[in-house]
Amino acid sequence: MRRIYMDYAATTPVRKEVLKAMLPYFTKEFGNASSLHSMGVEAAEALDAARSRIANAIGAKPEEIVFTSGGTESDNLAIKGAAYANKDKGNHIISSVIEHPAVLNTCKSLEQEGFKVTYIPVDKNGSVDPRAVEKEITGKTILIAIMHANNEIGTIQPIAEIGRIAKAKGVLFHTDAVQTFGKLPVDVSALNVDMLTMSAHKIGGPKGVGALYVRESTPLKSLQTGGPHEKNRRAGTENVAGIVGFSKAAELAAREMKPESVRLSKLRDRIINCVLSNVKDAQLNGHPSKRLPNNANFSFLGAEGEAIVLKLDALGIAASTGSACSSHDLAPSHVLLALGHSPLEAHGSLRITLGKETTPKDVDYAIKVIPKVIKELRAISPDIKEMKNVNWSDYNDDHGHSHGHGEKH
Ligand code: PLP
Repeated sequence: MRRIYMDYAATTPVRKEVLKAMLPYFTKEFGNASSLHSMGVEAAEALDAARSRIANAIGAKPEEIVFTSGGTESDNLAIKGAAYANKDKGNHIISSVIEHPAVLNTCKSLEQEGFKVTYIPVDKNGSVDPRAVEKEITGKTILIAIMHANNEIGTIQPIAEIGRIAKAKGVLFHTDAVQTFGKLPVDVSALNVDMLTMSAHKIGGPKGVGALYVRESTPLKSLQTGGPHEKNRRAGTENVAGIVGFSKAAELAAREMKPESVRLSKLRDRIINCVLSNVKDAQLNGHPSKRLPNNANFSFLGAEGEAIVLKLDALGIAASTGSACSSHDLAPSHVLLALGHSPLEAHGSLRITLGKETTPKDVDYAIKVIPKVIKELRAISPDIKEMKNVNWSDYNDDHGHSHGHGEKH
């Protein structure tokens, strides 16, 4: 059976050019970038070149790039690192209700340490209102952390505008750009951000590598104790091969961004239009136009998200559910609940994310199969009226569930 991968927001295959660029650094050029001998110097040169490439891709200076183990670590370093470094100035942080768990759970952990966090709600399209952010800023606010685009529903936030407000008020501003870096133009000056998170494996790079942009002279406390790597901002021997691969992936993504974005938007719109017109009561989640070029997310009342994903998988399509359901966790997605969906609606969702290897033929197949799958599942699902009587509080935190903060990519 032909396998069609439509889960590019979760991860992507390593591109062959990336693998080729990385390979020598596992074997012949395996030096430690901190070593004084020539093999160390060569590794350090490879790191420098990679740093310059990543910096160039976002309009930053090379010394403003800190390499990390990925998006999760970058989010932790930005938020905790800025909170600890600025705690004498205040203890208030502003974020949003639809952040990735890497941000939300970091904020939650800071709340346990005495920081106060305000989570800005979103409208029905998943957009954050910059004025709502502005209203919450107090004399104690030290950091604003709002993601560039949401990983589940694809909504792109007005980051430049929020950044302008943060700058005018003298508050640090971080954005998680894991889902936009390499897909949309990301320029740290245009976006007015002080810190920005990136991850390699969402753009054809390897897993376990990422970076945090930290604007020059931004106070940041390192979270790891160890050597003076990354100018004392992130201790630990650098993953030279992974970083080289990351920078190659970023370079390719930047080169192909414009045509790829046009191509993917067309395929995405085809899926959206066909699903909305061929599936009764289908609903598009996320902003109708301000959304990632590769993201389509739907709710289908009466068809459970996990069942949709498993049925599609059996038919050769790898997609994901818009809710964070796993076999162990029935909590609906915190993102879909934040849009105003009932738990029932939030449970019946599907996320399709496209990428480099998606072809029009793949899309033809998906739009043929999805309506059939939904129809079949609806035919065997309990009456929708009956489902509305489910006591959803049975699936809340009392049972140790996390309201969907656990499983989303
Ligand atoms: N932030 C967002 C928006 C994401 O989509 C992801 C991916 O899962 C992450 C952070 C975490 O990145 P990583 O998998 O590199 O830790």
